[in-house]
Amino acid sequence: MKKIDLHTHTDISDGSETPEAAVRLAKSLGLAAIAVTDHDTAAGVKRAKAEGEKCGVEVVSGIELGCGWHGSEVHMLGYGVDPDDRGLASVLDRIVRDRHERNVKMAKLLSDDGIGIDVAELERRHPGSVIGRPHFALCLVEAGIADSVKDAFNRFLDPGRKYYVRRHFLSLEEGAELIIAAGGRPVIAHPLQYKLSDEGMTELLEKAVSTGVCGLECRYSGYGEETVQRLLKLAADYGLCPTGGSDWHGSHKPHISMGSGEHGELCVPYDYLEALMKR
Ligand code: AMP
Ligand code: FE
Ligand code: FE
Ligand code: ZN
Repeated sequence: MKKIDLHTHTDISDGSETPEAAVRLAKSLGLAAIAVTDHDTAAGVKRAKAEGEKCGVEVVSGIELGCGWHGSEVHMLGYGVDPDDRGLASVLDRIVRDRHERNVKMAKLLSDDGIGIDVAELERRHPGSVIGRPHFALCLVEAGIADSVKDAFNRFLDPGRKYYVRRHFLSLEEGAELIIAAGGRPVIAHPLQYKLSDEGMTELLEKAVSTGVCGLECRYSGYGEETVQRLLKLAADYGLCPTGGSDWHGSHKPHISMGSGEHGELCVPYDYLEALMKR
């Protein structure tokens, strides 16, 4: 069976590796296809596609948008978006500007406590990348204030923690509309990460379907087979295509391996991609 990974991050957002290196890793792992789904940017897609042509890996253009949902965040993946789409580019520019303002506010809170993080320096160090809390987490680790990225989030950067500043989110309608207008297919990412009740999940999926979402990420790092079967049934009930991916971030999330997840539990068949792209 041909295996794929439809959820990966590069250093164009908060992954550790370049788009080229991500594709070469996919090749070495024997994956038939990967989607590059950086947070709020499709700027790595063309580089990944060029490398994919060189080494014989199918690269699917992708993006992951944070959308607001009842005071928290739901992630929407978009597959097949045109990275040159003007409408997409203009909204993403706005998101990056908004992130910058949020980042400056977080840096101010940190500096009030004597922790110096220079946003301009971060932006210089990661030219063309979408800067977010993961970059702050790495700074806290580098400074010896946190033991790991996870620890930095748990103690300092998660919602409710001292240095968290909420940023502006698109609504689910806006996210789906943007992805569809850019030629893509919207998919709800990692549905269990939102810790919804059964009723909450129903409400989310009904809303998603009404906005034009056409897929549900049923296979994901850490999701065991029982969970996967439950999600596959939900996807079928709502007429959504099942998708799957690891959410690989390279060494920034070292417990996640491309293509195989946390303990080899992840296995995404190529058929998922074919069915999704027919929608
Ligand atoms: P931002 O969009 O800048 O607010 O950062 C959100 C990103 O940080 C997410 O997409 C994840 O990649 C990462 N993240 C969020 N929460 C955690 C956590 N508890 N541990 C590790 N990474 C996290
Ligand atoms: Fe991330
Ligand atoms: Fe996500
Ligand atoms: Zn992701």
